[in-house]
Amino acid sequence: MIADLHAHTLASDGTDTPTQLIEKAAAQGLDLIAITDHDTTSGWDEASAAAQRVGISLLRGIEISCKWQEISLHLLAYLHERSDEPLLAELSAARDSRDSRARRITELLAADLPITWKDVSAQVEPGATVGRPHIADALVALGIVKQRDEAFAKYLYTGSPYYAAHYAPDPVAVVKLVRAARGVPVMAHPFAAARGPVAPDQLIAEMAQAGLFALEADHPEHDDSQRAHTIALAADLGLHVTGSSDYHGRGKTNRLGQCTTAPTVVEALLSEPTAVTAIGALGR
Ligand code: AMP
Ligand code: FE
Ligand code: FE
Ligand code: ZN
Repeated sequence: MIADLHAHTLASDGTDTPTQLIEKAAAQGLDLIAITDHDTTSGWDEASAAAQRVGISLLRGIEISCKWQEISLHLLAYLHERSDEPLLAELSAARDSRDSRARRITELLAADLPITWKDVSAQVEPGATVGRPHIADALVALGIVKQRDEAFAKYLYTGSPYYAAHYAPDPVAVVKLVRAARGVPVMAHPFAAARGPVAPDQLIAEMAQAGLFALEADHPEHDDSQRAHTIALAADLGLHVTGSSDYHGRGKTNRLGQCTTAPTVVEALLSEPTAVTAIGALGR
């Protein structure tokens, strides 16, 4: 079984529609794919219909932006109740704040570059979660940079003079919210240090205590020592490990199925209490 547990669509900062994501995953021979857009489940219905049509298994999920002492970290959640009020309240607060923060970053850039909010909003699918990648896409469309990566390297990196933060909830609280919404929480790319400062092991231990299921170990942005540390910490804390591509379509070089999760871990995940079932063969 080939399972890729982390992928983005136009519902956030990916470049494929949910249908395209599912069709590509099936065409590449994956048995299971998860849709995990940033802070939204708005791609779920289209992805479900496509998965049923092409016969691939689908985990409906989300990637929740969290913050602890100014350290940004990402929590994946699978198969949770999408209309759970306490969780929805945090997600909509984060999305609202992402909107004003994207306007703020655009204003800061506009002091030095010919970019307007209109250029940025033209890159965002209606209803999608806005992020720095959309600002990057606007810079590409304006011919200021060649690709997203260059936009991040020059203008959008965390700590850049053009950077602004957005509201994000506390990770330990979100692990509890996800479990209360009968979802399965997994910490995404815990030691991807190129993105900025990473969570201390002690915080991850608290997240484990709060109900974390797994750590994402095999990820394109983890080097060998970061993978090894993730695996050792997971063993210490009694957590599973997952692997996933974090595919963003044309937005990143990550390839679908580049990193995968062991079938035994998929089985363990599906044995956890959940609000919704997997689509496809694995859901039955
Ligand atoms: P934000 O959620 O607005 O803080 O933006 C972070 C997102 O930007 C991450 O989810 C990544 O998908 C994307 N990202 C970060 N660095 C890069 C990069 N160098 N090239 C392309 N995308 C990136
Ligand atoms: Fe992203
Ligand atoms: Fe992430
Ligand atoms: Zn992601």
